Amino acid sequence: MLRRRCYSRLAAALAKKNLIGLSLPQLQHELATIPEARKYTAQQVWEHMYRRGITDFQGMTNLSKTLRSELDSRYKIHYGHVQLAQVSRDQTRKWLVGFADDPRAVVESVLIPEPDRATLCVSSQIGCSLQCSFCHTGTQKLFRSLTASEVVGQYMIAAKEANDFNVTKKTVSNMVFMGQGEPLYNWRQVRQAIQVLTDTNGIAMPKHKITVSTSGVVPLIPNVASDVGVSLAISLHATRNDLRDVLVPLNKTFPLEIVLEACTTYAQLMGNRGRRITFEYVMLDGVNDSQSEARDLVRLLRQLPSHVNLIPFNPWPGSIYRTSKPEKIEKFARIVMEGGVHCTVRRPRGQDIMAACGQLKSSAEKKRSLVT
Ligand code: SAH
Ligand code: SF4
Repeated sequence: MLRRRCYSRLAAALAKKNLIGLSLPQLQHELATIPEARKYTAQQVWEHMYRRGITDFQGMTNLSKTLRSELDSRYKIHYGHVQLAQVSRDQTRKWLVGFADDPRAVVESVLIPEPDRATLCVSSQIGCSLQCSFCHTGTQKLFRSLTASEVVGQYMIAAKEANDFNVTKKTVSNMVFMGQGEPLYNWRQVRQAIQVLTDTNGIAMPKHKITVSTSGVVPLIPNVASDVGVSLAISLHATRNDLRDVLVPLNKTFPLEIVLEACTTYAQLMGNRGRRITFEYVMLDGVNDSQSEARDLVRLLRQLPSHVNLIPFNPWPGSIYRTSKPEKIEKFARIVMEGGVHCTVRRPRGQDIMAACGQLKSSAEKKRSLVT
């Protein structure tokens, strides 16, 4: 009897619609069906959810009791189930987040702290369809794309952990779509999530602090500027098409020249709002790390507002590549800088908990081994 009651309560909770991730017009539309709701109710609920981090309608004390109960009976405010939380030796945090529909619906998000800020790396899909040869995520088939709710939920989990609600200076200051998946293959949902995250009456994350990273889905690169106006990162990794075809197979569809053309369009659309485009370049020992390739990189990028970010390859079990020697990375960086292109080397973070760039994978097998 007791068990049956528990199940029916669980079923009722699952049936409730989650308000996280709806756009403000969608929320207004949704709440308009409630007789007790006023014109400004959606705005009030929005501020409670995103400014104050309230997840229980009873805590929304400026709404009438009847309205609160009505909201409670129809909706929930749910970020996702944190199945595992890990902290690395360098204080990088990783969360394994599950979503209700399927036990395989699990992604990872990573929070990388810096002295006066923290960058949250979120996933846009469960797995990835693109199979870049150096990326762990690429070995996990695409299970499905995430909803806007699931993308925003990853931020809310990190913000809650960081006590970022009701404060003026937030810890989670930057967000990068560099977790699992290709954000431009899930653009509608990612775009909606960005609109929620940047809404000035809610989370109000500044647009230039959000970076969408793509392996080069050319037709949608200009939309990063025209739809949402956030920062762009391109996973370049090679200066020649024959090598990029191997490292980033999407290059066979959208080769280097047209990726760079799309970047020019992005830069034009951003106009004076624009920041430099980040070009990510994974350093693979003996594969793409020669001095002549550094010079080629300068030639390719000189005409664009660019910033090269060299990423020492992060190994994963079964990977066929090795990380370039530190001296080689340094020399490569020096050539790029001397050629007049901004260049930094990304310090690997969270490697001991497999949280570094390209190490994320959430297959059912791995999840089982982490949880038990
Ligand atoms: N799909 C998008 C975003 C996710 S990958 C993209 O490809 O841009 C985020 C970044 O990590 C990309 O630049 C990717 O090329 C890089 N990356 C993937 N595997 C890596 C690894 N093992 N070591 C270092 N960087 C890696
Ligand atoms: Fe997918 Fe990006 Fe990994 Fe390539 S690097 S397999 S696009 S997640």
